Amino acid sequence: MFYIGCHLSAAKGFAAMGETAAAIGANTFQFFTRNPRGGAAKKIDQNDVNRFIKLAGENQFGVLLAHAPYTLNAAAKNPEVRRFAFEAMADDLKRMEFIPHNYYNFHPGSHVGQGIRIGIKKIAALLNEIMTEDQTTTVLLETMSGKGSEIGSRFEELRDIIDHVRLKDKIGVCLDTCHVYDAGYDIVNDLEKVLDDFDRIIGLDKLKAVHLNDSKNPFASHKDRHEKLGQGALGIPAIARIINNPRLRALPFYLETPNESDGYAAEIALLKKLRTENESKKKADL
Ligand code: FE
Ligand code: FE
Ligand code: ZN
Repeated sequence: MFYIGCHLSAAKGFAAMGETAAAIGANTFQFFTRNPRGGAAKKIDQNDVNRFIKLAGENQFGVLLAHAPYTLNAAAKNPEVRRFAFEAMADDLKRMEFIPHNYYNFHPGSHVGQGIRIGIKKIAALLNEIMTEDQTTTVLLETMSGKGSEIGSRFEELRDIIDHVRLKDKIGVCLDTCHVYDAGYDIVNDLEKVLDDFDRIIGLDKLKAVHLNDSKNPFASHKDRHEKLGQGALGIPAIARIINNPRLRALPFYLETPNESDGYAAEIALLKKLRTENESKKKADL
């Protein structure tokens, strides 16, 4: 099964996202749990969730990826900023139980001059406060590009956070192809080495999802600007190798490219073609 989707607006609820996803050829999607610019989260409507669950079953949807607001900073120096991250993420995890057994991705945080060690400790401490034994959600740390004082652009940093998290079976990693390339992992010329490094440092069993984006900026630029597939530094051949890699192909892929639904539909169709071609080529080789 090829699980492919894109980022969708949550403004009209889960059933509407499910309908949009199905209409553009997706069988999963990503959404923001709340407005990234802050404010209270929208109340979850059980009828809307029920409609979505029915639709997801009929269309054989894969796991959904919820994304925390990117403005949160679990490593913040300012106690109020960190308290806001705590409250929003704790609330998000409670709300995620309306749609159990999905993923909740967040940007680990920025140490803003405190140093990486302190930042890592603060992130892990926050996770240990908000994660519970009975949550069905897996929390994912996103691989970052390393702009500013961002934590999580090195696999070692993500491993160190995970090492400090108590509920190890409820934490994983989401690999963003734009971010890792910008961070200096050469997934274009040596994907196998990057995956070997990931496996040695974090463990591929912790890799749960992929954000599939091209990058506007060159290798190791530490910039983080997403580009449409094939129009950036990664290019289509590298993207085809990523979605077909034996170590990645079972994972769900989520596009976060600068597109409206037409553009996403076209990228999803292209990816399906690239995926099928590979499968038929393999069959022909046998
Ligand atoms: Fe992100
Ligand atoms: Fe991302
Ligand atoms: Zn990004």
